[in-house]
Amino acid sequence: MDDLCQELVRLASRGNSVTDWPEDSLRLCADSGVFRWFLPEGKGGFGWSDRDQTLGYLRLAESDLVTTFVITQYMGAIRRIAASEHSSVADNWLERLVEGKVYATVGISHLTTSRRHLAEPVLRAKETTDGFILSGMSPWVTGGAHAELLVIGATLDCGRQILVAVPSELEGVSRGVGVDLVALSASCTDRVEFREVHVRRSMLLGGPCENVLQSGVGARTGGLQTSTLAVGLSMAALGFLEREAANREDLSEPTQQLRAEVNELKKTLLLACDDSQVCEPSEIRARANRLVLRSTQAALMAAKGAGYVEGHPVGRWCRQALFFLVWSCPQPVSHAHLCELAFGSTEVS
Ligand SMILES: Cc1cc2nc3c(=O)[nH]c(=O)nc-3n(C[C@H](O)[C@H](O)[C@H](O)COP(=O)(O)OP(=O)(O)OC[C@H]3O[C@@H](n4cnc5c(N)ncnc54)[C@H](O)[C@@H]3O)c2cc1C
Repeated sequence: MDDLCQELVRLASRGNSVTDWPEDSLRLCADSGVFRWFLPEGKGGFGWSDRDQTLGYLRLAESDLVTTFVITQYMGAIRRIAASEHSSVADNWLERLVEGKVYATVGISHLTTSRRHLAEPVLRAKETTDGFILSGMSPWVTGGAHAELLVIGATLDCGRQILVAVPSELEGVSRGVGVDLVALSASCTDRVEFREVHVRRSMLLGGPCENVLQSGVGARTGGLQTSTLAVGLSMAALGFLEREAANREDLSEPTQQLRAEVNELKKTLLLACDDSQVCEPSEIRARANRLVLRSTQAALMAAKGAGYVEGHPVGRWCRQALFFLVWSCPQPVSHAHLCELAFGSTEVS
């Protein structure tokens, strides 16, 4: 793990552009068996516990957030394929996916956090005798242009939802190469459009039903993954602060304070993996969001102007920290942030 992380840190200085897809880093992770952490032994995985997966993700995110984020979307697809009650997609794809020979990703946020205020679903499915026809678009798909398989959520006219695995070469599928983002552009996130795409019933992973993502199709309770990555990025910023503080007395006290907070949140996160009653996931997320913003900006204060120069890791971490304000951020957490920004506290009179 130490060697893998060192190499990921080195490769993380790649550019922040859609042409910088982290292929080398993903290959290293595949060769180190990272993609097997997340699956049970019977499905080709190592059967790691939630706690061990979290510890693994913390180390990866501390080393390279872009690659780690891409892996979360990849694993989101793999877990849903592995957990589906229909085995045909798993039979044909799973082993190649965990070996890292083919890449899969998810386009599901339009069923949960994206475009929910619109009157009509952005991606519709029509049932046919032998499968489904998809029409519309999935607004956010990480690495869509690099994926051989897309795990996509869509809504039928009756309001029920399906989850299907769509081979990206199917006629009518059109994938954007990636949009320029504030950070994480190398994740090549973009919309995928579906023009009357015929998907066979054998590619169905879940549904039709209400709330297909809560129906056990690889769903993970707790939603602690985003918080884990935020804590991992905070650990990177803190590592920088500690190296600087070794020679700069003025940094010592704030660095110790942030270290105590990182350790405390890491402990809560790991306890919550074993027992979901320990702390509400949304509370952990709110703490992780605050910590990642504060610790990366504290690192920038310590790095001073040098940290503000393009290419310095601290500037990159500050931009990456903003991602946690928008990535699958639950409504109560974003509302609490807004109030903090507007009122200086979460208490609104
Ligand atoms: C870099 C990145 C990678 C991602 N990767 C993936 C992925 O691989 N797979 C995946 O499934 N998801 C992914 N997501 C999606 C993510 O999880 C969230 O769903 C997404 O960030 C929500 O943002 P949105 O702009 O779509 O939200 P929306 O709620 O659709 O907001 C868009 C706009 O609509 C307007 N608006 C919002 N709410 C209202 C309202 N109530 N009334 C009127 N107007 C409103 C605002 O002007 C807002 O700017 C990714 C997101 C990012 C940023």
